[in-house]
Amino acid sequence: MATTTKDFYQVLGVKRDATEKEIRSAYRKLARQFHPDVNPNDKAAEARFKEINAAYEVLKDAGKRKKYDKYGDRWELADQIEEQQRRASAQQEYFRRGGGSPAGGPTGGFDFGDIDLGGAPGGGFEDILGGLFRGRGRAQPRRAKGEDLEHPVEVTLEEAFAGTARTITLQVPVTCDVCKGTGKVAGTPCVTCEGLGSIIKASRLEVKIPAGVESGSKVRVAGKGHPGAGGGPPGDMLLLVTVRPHERFERKGDDLYVDTPAPALDLVLGGEVEVPTIKGTRLHLKVPAGTQNGRQFRLAGQGMPRLGKPEERGALYARMKAVLPAELSARERELYEELRALRGARAGAA
Ligand SMILES: [Zn+2]
Repeated sequence: MATTTKDFYQVLGVKRDATEKEIRSAYRKLARQFHPDVNPNDKAAEARFKEINAAYEVLKDAGKRKKYDKYGDRWELADQIEEQQRRASAQQEYFRRGGGSPAGGPTGGFDFGDIDLGGAPGGGFEDILGGLFRGRGRAQPRRAKGEDLEHPVEVTLEEAFAGTARTITLQVPVTCDVCKGTGKVAGTPCVTCEGLGSIIKASRLEVKIPAGVESGSKVRVAGKGHPGAGGGPPGDMLLLVTVRPHERFERKGDDLYVDTPAPALDLVLGGEVEVPTIKGTRLHLKVPAGTQNGRQFRLAGQGMPRLGKPEERGALYARMKAVLPAELSARERELYEELRALRGARAGAA
């Protein structure tokens, strides 16, 4: 390809909206003027003559002219550029439909939701493709921070209590190293990223989930979102936390509730009951005589840590569940019979 930088319309001295007829007549006039036969041994005239012909070759052809109007001196790459645009929007669509592959938690299927690879409104992949259009009077792509990338993470209540970590595998667009995101290498579209300025890469990322998260918590991992446009910084990754319900502990805010089995006689006579904690330990709780079934005892500081202030903790409510004897020995039966007779006599006397 010739290193023509002059505008074809300027070369022929016509306006951009010139008709075919105007172009043809301008060409004929200039061709006669600079023809080598008329200017023997004139190198400048010869060069000008070639320039005029090159311009006319394109502008006389409606199809080529249209491409030239759109892409300037890259008009010959028009088909290629448009193919790249198609791919870029296919890629966008892929992400919109949740093309990432979560290798993190046991979450299984999930929805990427309304993730928008495109970036700022109105920018879209044109920013990514910006490099292709540079030099034709088109504005440089805006420097903009990349979009945030959201990723679901499911944790157990124990993990939410203690804090945990996850390795997440994402298919994310990253800035092309070869062309540094410009989409061009030495003036031609970058082969590595096909001119897009970014490539899709599987990236493994170790993320920390802090103690105290609850369902709906968003944990921000700075700089791990989509790449920025025009050399802007990348967006962040937002981990969308879901805490799986626990089969034993119920959570309300920072407080926990747990059913605590207690032998009926310990409730009746008073005694010591073992309360399970989310840490896996057991606490000894003294209950007074006459404790009713279902009564709750508050154990301060034994609940969930507060997000961002893990030293502050909620309470654990131990809910008494009387355990009644299923089988009685002969002697026990005798005593229960005696108790019933005694309580019946008291009820009758009342
Ligand atoms: Zn590249």
